[in-house]
Amino acid sequence: MQTKIGLEIHCQLTGLKSKLFCSCGTDYRGKEPNSNVCPTCLGLPGTLPLLNKKAVEFASMISLALDCRVPEEIMFYRKNYFYPDLPKNFQLTQYNAYGITSIGVDGSLQYGDDKVARIRRVQLEEDPGRVVYESGSMEKSLYALVDYNRAGIPLVEIVTEPDFSDPKDVRLFLNKITSIVEHLGVCDTKLEGSVRCDVNVSVQGGLRVEIKNVGSFSEAEKAVRYEIARQKTMVSRNIEVKAETRHWDDARKITKESRSKEEEQDYRYFPEPDIPAITLGKDFVLSLKPSMPELPDARKERFISALGLSPHVAQVLIENKELADFFELTIKLYNSPKEVANWIVTDLISFVDEKDREGGNLLAGLKVGPEHIAELARMVEQNTVNRTMAKQILGQVVRTGEMPSVVARKSQATRIADSSVIADAVEAVFKAEQSAVADARQNPNAANFLLGKVMQLTKGRADPKTALELINKKLRETT
Ligand code: ZN
Ligand code: MN
Repeated sequence: MQTKIGLEIHCQLTGLKSKLFCSCGTDYRGKEPNSNVCPTCLGLPGTLPLLNKKAVEFASMISLALDCRVPEEIMFYRKNYFYPDLPKNFQLTQYNAYGITSIGVDGSLQYGDDKVARIRRVQLEEDPGRVVYESGSMEKSLYALVDYNRAGIPLVEIVTEPDFSDPKDVRLFLNKITSIVEHLGVCDTKLEGSVRCDVNVSVQGGLRVEIKNVGSFSEAEKAVRYEIARQKTMVSRNIEVKAETRHWDDARKITKESRSKEEEQDYRYFPEPDIPAITLGKDFVLSLKPSMPELPDARKERFISALGLSPHVAQVLIENKELADFFELTIKLYNSPKEVANWIVTDLISFVDEKDREGGNLLAGLKVGPEHIAELARMVEQNTVNRTMAKQILGQVVRTGEMPSVVARKSQATRIADSSVIADAVEAVFKAEQSAVADARQNPNAANFLLGKVMQLTKGRADPKTALELINKKLRETT
């Protein structure tokens, strides 16, 4: 059965200071409800929108990064629908009609190893306010409150063609988008609700179902998985899959029916009469390009060609701007790119909690900075410590924030030099790990596993060199 998945991704332009059509600030989070508002974003009669010029630049930069065509002239449209969070009863957005397109059209983005998704359009629009339910959920609440602090926050909506069929690809694609908007400096994806995703899913024999407002990218993957299974089951039982809008229930991990889907014509799009068509001109794009920051793909190329990293290591680094920045700061302190990159990509990441693996806040839970990794890499390359030891030092560093040299000196002081104590530990490990011992006889590299166990047993205090000698000796003796 053929599955088609398309995405609509909303990114708040948090890099801007003011809203899209008024001078209210974009920093609305944590503010007293309805304190970050003015007559314009409240939609009061007689107000007129004034377009934020910088927002047009940011949206164009996103369009260019996604290989879209940016037209010479843009317009805004009213998208009409009634919902309490929409004070004007229409959203100012863009639309492709009368030969005028949204700010970006017909792009494409390469993601994962060699996959490509087409971008249908990129449009600039305003965020609605927020409905807050008195008891947290719509069903259980007696009343709801509306907070317009978010109303008018500039959004860029990225619409893809239905080019995905595997939920895993959806996740990879969204990671790439995150990395791009972070590199452009237009959206701080760490902020709650700054990136939201609607997912369209259809399976062969059914109609298209839209899942609204999935909060995080790992949730998007789960929502898609659930929806594909649900629709396939229905089709196989000859139950009609209707076109509808569903909501992702984050707590129960299911999608729920919310309303039958509006058709495009239900929105009665028409040109916004209070904003004239805006001529960007031919030179606009040309003038923008040189000022664009380095994008993830170019950065990856540079890491490979100028710094000698492997494509895989470079890929892991650029997928997360925070990680790539951390890497570049570290090699400024100790210029050994391969060694440093390996410490970050294989060792440091292993200390990051699964829940922190996405988004820009990867290293927030660890007490580690570039200075720690720079020193550790130097110590290893100068043979002050061996790798096994260095890995243990790193474990201590990320918990305490102590410098690796300090941790090494402390453990040196308590180092077990007495080889009979170490021999006892080796003895115990050989008894407990018989299959690993058998492995090690076939494959000398497997001795490192036994060494790790000895280090564990001695709480890292055994001298690794002595321990490894004893292990190898014992392996030879007992063959
Ligand atoms: Zn305002
Ligand atoms: Mn939208």
